[in-house]
Amino acid sequence: MTSDSPGTGIDITGLTKTFKLGRRSVEALQSVDLHTEAGAFLTLLGPSGCGKSTVLRILAGLETPTTGTALINGYTPAELRGRHELGIAFQDSALLPWRTVVSNIKLPLQVAGIAPDPKLIADLVALVGLEGFEKAKPAQLSGGMRQRVSIARALVVKPTVLLLDEPFGALDDMTRQRLNLELLRIWTEKPATTLMVTHGIAEAVFLSDLVAVMSPRPGRVLEIVRIDLPRPRTPDMMRTPEFHKIHDQLSELLFGRSAVAEGIA
Ligand code: ADP
Ligand code: MG
Repeated sequence: MTSDSPGTGIDITGLTKTFKLGRRSVEALQSVDLHTEAGAFLTLLGPSGCGKSTVLRILAGLETPTTGTALINGYTPAELRGRHELGIAFQDSALLPWRTVVSNIKLPLQVAGIAPDPKLIADLVALVGLEGFEKAKPAQLSGGMRQRVSIARALVVKPTVLLLDEPFGALDDMTRQRLNLELLRIWTEKPATTLMVTHGIAEAVFLSDLVAVMSPRPGRVLEIVRIDLPRPRTPDMMRTPEFHKIHDQLSELLFGRSAVAEGIA
């Protein structure tokens, strides 16, 4: 593929999801359409419970849609999993408690039957700042450290598709900012088709090509905002008027104009 024709990245059409809870049903997604080019970075912003994780879980093949279709890079979620090019880091880091940091990071390679390259593993450990903790078990780590292990694990397959569900949600601001920069660096080196969920508006603007703002449940896409800031992105861009303008636009879509004017959002 050339840069002139990057191909299709995320291709979601008419996606709905209704969960059955006994005799009750919960309409999580009403009708979601999302389209990106291959290698684009798309972020979902929206209120809690609006179905963001459900979209990601459908793309990861962990949930089936009620109606509609979801493809990434031309593959169905099942095909994508079979190709072992899918990197996933979800909110709850879901590490195997009996495995060390390093053997948790290697897990997707073992599942795929790929021999781990020791240098790659060491680089990933360093990348997420866990040197010295290679042999620690998840219970011996802080929540933030566990999340960093799950990010390294998502990257170990050199993914062509990255699904990140609030990957930095539980981290302190400084670590979060550092990991955002690292994520940006990794993604710039090898742009994977990415769908991230976050609550952080600044983070969404800083990282993304596109930000989709969702309605409260049942989730719909209210608006897709293109982030026209140049790349490579640098932290000083977060202080520019262009950055603040997009930030305000997203705050308004999420919280309403009055909340922004009153400085609540
Ligand atoms: P978000 O990630 O935006 O906070 P979710 O996608 O987790 O939202 O959930 C959307 C809605 O679907 C919520 O009302 C949630 O309770 C419901 N939901 C999610 N997963 C399930 C499930 N497995 N069974 C029943 N309801 C679910
Ligand atoms: Mg969620």
